[in-house]
Amino acid sequence: MTLATIHESDYTNPVLHAQGLYIGGEWLPGSGIEVINPATNAVLAEVADATTADALHAVDAAAAAAANWRATPPRQRAEILRRWFQLMTERAEALAQLISLENGKALPDARGEVAYAAEFFRWYAEEAVRIPGEFRHAPGGAYNILVDHEPMGIAVLITPWNFPAAMATRKIGPALAAGCTVILKPASETPLTAYAMARLGAEAGVPPGVVNVLTTTQPAAITNVMLTDPRVRKLSFTGSTGVGRILLAEAAKSVVSCSMELGGNAPFLVLDDADLEAALDGAMIAKMRNAGEACTAANRFYVQSGLHDAFVAGLTQRMAALQVGPGTEAGVQVGPMITSTSVAKIERLVADAVKQGARLHTGGKPLPGNGHFYPPTVLDNVPLHAEIAHTEIFGPVACVYRFDTEEEAIRLANTTEYGLAAYVYSTDLSRAMRVGKALESGMVAINRGLMSDPAAPFGGVKQSGLGREGGVTGILEFMEPKYFAVEW
Ligand code: NAD
Repeated sequence: MTLATIHESDYTNPVLHAQGLYIGGEWLPGSGIEVINPATNAVLAEVADATTADALHAVDAAAAAAANWRATPPRQRAEILRRWFQLMTERAEALAQLISLENGKALPDARGEVAYAAEFFRWYAEEAVRIPGEFRHAPGGAYNILVDHEPMGIAVLITPWNFPAAMATRKIGPALAAGCTVILKPASETPLTAYAMARLGAEAGVPPGVVNVLTTTQPAAITNVMLTDPRVRKLSFTGSTGVGRILLAEAAKSVVSCSMELGGNAPFLVLDDADLEAALDGAMIAKMRNAGEACTAANRFYVQSGLHDAFVAGLTQRMAALQVGPGTEAGVQVGPMITSTSVAKIERLVADAVKQGARLHTGGKPLPGNGHFYPPTVLDNVPLHAEIAHTEIFGPVACVYRFDTEEEAIRLANTTEYGLAAYVYSTDLSRAMRVGKALESGMVAINRGLMSDPAAPFGGVKQSGLGREGGVTGILEFMEPKYFAVEW
């Protein structure tokens, strides 16, 4: 089947996207990685398993396309990105089905992801034509300071499975807008979405070699080959903090610029003057978007004593009412976890907390069957030293902790190596802002359960990462400032 003959509905066909590596605008046949439907454990398709030679081939392709792409006028780069946004929007339902099939997330979540993912292309189509420069007078008065921004060069983009479309577009959008060519290595659990996106990119007019996609079972070896190639100047990674640390060390060997979007352990603070219903609505979004498999997912609910019991009761009622099942089925709100290993980890964390004195209000045991299902679960009275209080749960488990004073809540919230997202609920905005400013995190949502927005700088402090994606600064992650000292 050729590009021209692909009908919109074919985008839901997993096998279609398993045609091989996408390098230099060509599909190179291959096999070796089985893509599993987490709702049934059945094989959806098989994709190619890239070798280190394929990785070098991808660097060659990105290098061959680099000069032309860099010289392509920003307006033209913008128009290609804009067409890509348009195509994603037109094929949104089919893409959502595909995401739901390989990742497991419920269709409403998958639809939300496609819309969010496409917006990165629209936003960076708009930013491509607004790349900033700077002009200053040297303080001594003898000359002028002119700062240009140049594309860094070839960028390696490594993405996780939890948002297979959005984590890719959040990198490809700014990289292409900046004038970089890229090699995307998606997670091998969810490669089909990445290949479908590449297909749409080609249809939108992305020239061969500007975007290359490869899947592999040897990410470390492949990344090593690419990062030690002097033509590669950028690594943009989204994934766990553990892998991020390894990649920072790896990139240090060739002093490659790194942007790191790593793990989180978000606190969700409900102060005693909060609107309880609004806090519960926000809690459900912050916890259950993507069934808890989100880096921004609320991991620790700190609720002030006056509202604690009512919050636990309200949250339990809402969590217990959610419909769990295969993500593609109508009415399902919570899909399966990505793998059986994820389910086993969640099961272990919950069992350990309960053993140490946590009270279980709903859920608490994996669901039987072939799929990787874990039910929405609520715990309170969780001991602060329990592992679940310090680990990214990455599943539908809400742990509620009681606190008495604002200072105590801030101290507890900051007791983590992570610093990505935080949530504060209070009807007193000055109080909420005061607390928000004291929280050690890159992003704070005030009276909201969702903060992700292509127009805002997304990223973390502490061990949650380096750099920001999205917003007006996101494009600069792929550009080097170049200073000219000019005298005339
Ligand atoms: P992961 O770190 O296991 O894998 C992420 C990617 O890195 C995958 O493509 C994987 O194949 C690749 N990888 C793994 N080992 C590698 C190595 N040695 N060298 C090169 N590449 C390697 O993470 P995951 O399980 O796919 O995703 C979940 C994690 O991602 C969570 O910790 C979550 O918080 C984080 N995450 C962060 C953000 C953010 O924006 N901060 C967004 C989404 C997910």
